[in-house]
Amino acid sequence: MTDIVTPQRTKAILQKYHLQLKKSLGQNFLTNKDILLNIVMAADVSAADDIIEIGPGIGALTEQLAKRAHQVLAFEIDQRLIPVLQDTLRPYHNITVLNQDILSADLPTVLQQHFDGQHHLKVVANLPYYITTPIMLHLLQAELPFTCMVMMMQKEVAQRLTAMPGTKAYGSLSVSVQTLTTAQIAFNVPRTVFLPQPNVDSAIVRLVPRSQPLVALHEQSRFAKFVKGCFAKRRKSLWNNLLNMYGKQPLIKEQLQVVLQTRELDPQIRAERLTVPMFVNLYHDLQKIKK
Ligand code: SAM
Repeated sequence: MTDIVTPQRTKAILQKYHLQLKKSLGQNFLTNKDILLNIVMAADVSAADDIIEIGPGIGALTEQLAKRAHQVLAFEIDQRLIPVLQDTLRPYHNITVLNQDILSADLPTVLQQHFDGQHHLKVVANLPYYITTPIMLHLLQAELPFTCMVMMMQKEVAQRLTAMPGTKAYGSLSVSVQTLTTAQIAFNVPRTVFLPQPNVDSAIVRLVPRSQPLVALHEQSRFAKFVKGCFAKRRKSLWNNLLNMYGKQPLIKEQLQVVLQTRELDPQIRAERLTVPMFVNLYHDLQKIKK
């Protein structure tokens, strides 16, 4: 039997099950084996790994993962695809497919039920693009010992996640994610390798969680709000954005000035020039501000 990923087999499966793909669920299926193999290579998948996949679709990526990994646990929200996956993935005995929304999954509990805890834990997925950020945050906030996460997403989002200070793509998402991980684009993927073709190009991002997050998980949402505030008016100075967040009373201004001076930060600097550690330091310093 040829691999699921080939355009011929993908079309045959869709026809056999009379499947109309749902745009609302981000259903764009990969039909290029080289790309799939590059994804698997970017995650360095081996028999030492247990893999979480989000959105197996008709099983193209799942199949390549199962050929190399110890176990694969795949979350698929679309009930129509469950019998299809039972059929296409029948030859593999190391795959569990759960008909579940990844965002409502209690990951630590589910993983304990399905994995033995003796293998490296990795996420490998061709994400449904409409919920890329919520999925990433859900995974990162689950406090699981992931070795890496290799995920396909819209190219613009990939560029934002991995952006460096001073670039157009650098913003609050870059800073928040980079406090928890080191993020790199592994490679770009053209829109032509999907069925149906999406309106955007894609990229594979490799995230490696930091052994020590730069901001504790329980502070992440407050930190994210702070960083968003710093970027609120992108073309205005950091000083201006801080005043909008903290208030313009003389006492506040005085305290803000002291913090910026201590950190040797020019108040006229724009948020996009601050590195991730600078945001972290500033956030901690500004906790002490008395209103
Ligand atoms: N893995 C397949 C591939 O590479 O060809 C399909 C990827 S397709 C871009 C995204 C998949 O995610 C679809 O099968 C879709 O039904 C599924 N999906 C969408 N929202 C989901 C959710 N909240 N939880 C789990 N799966 C979801």
